[in-house]
Amino acid sequence: MKSSFWFIKVILSSREMSGTDCINCNICVRGCPVKAISQLDGEYVSDQTKCINCSVCTTICPKQSWQAKRRGYSVWIGGTNGKVPRAGTRLSRLVENLDEVYAIIDRVLCYYKDHGQKPERLGHMLERLGTERVCAELLSR
Ligand code: SF4
Ligand code: SF4
Repeated sequence: MKSSFWFIKVILSSREMSGTDCINCNICVRGCPVKAISQLDGEYVSDQTKCINCSVCTTICPKQSWQAKRRGYSVWIGGTNGKVPRAGTRLSRLVENLDEVYAIIDRVLCYYKDHGQKPERLGHMLERLGTERVCAELLSR
C-alpha cells in the first residue's frame, strides 16, 4: 500500500490586532488562502471557522499586526499527487504536544493498515469510506 501524509507545522493567528500598526494595505486579506480575513467596522478579523492555521497572515503582514498566540501542529492526511491527485484533509486543528501528533500518526497508520486496499492510497481510502466518517473514527480512538 502506498501512503501519503501531510504534516504541517502551523502558527495559530491571533484574532486581536495591534491596530495602531496596521497600515490597511490589505495584503492579509488577499493573501489568506481560504478568505478567512475580512474587514469589520474598520478592523481586520479572521474567521476561525474558516482559518486553516497556515500562518500566512503572520508571515506576510508588513507590520506584524497578526501575532501568533499558540504554536503547534496541524495534521493533514491523504494528500497525494500522481494520476489521481487529491488535496489533503485536515484531521486535527492544532495539536500543541508533539507526543499527541505521534499518537495521531499511529492511529492513522493502524486504520490504514486495517481498511486500505491494495494499491489504494490513504486519500483514496478516505474517499471510498467517507472522509467525515473516517476522521470522526480516528479522532474518537
Ligand atoms: S492563519 Fe492562514 S487561514 Fe488563518 S487567517 Fe491567517 S492566512 Fe488565513
Ligand atoms: S497585512 Fe497587516 S498591515 Fe496590511 S492590512 Fe493586514 S493587518 Fe494591516
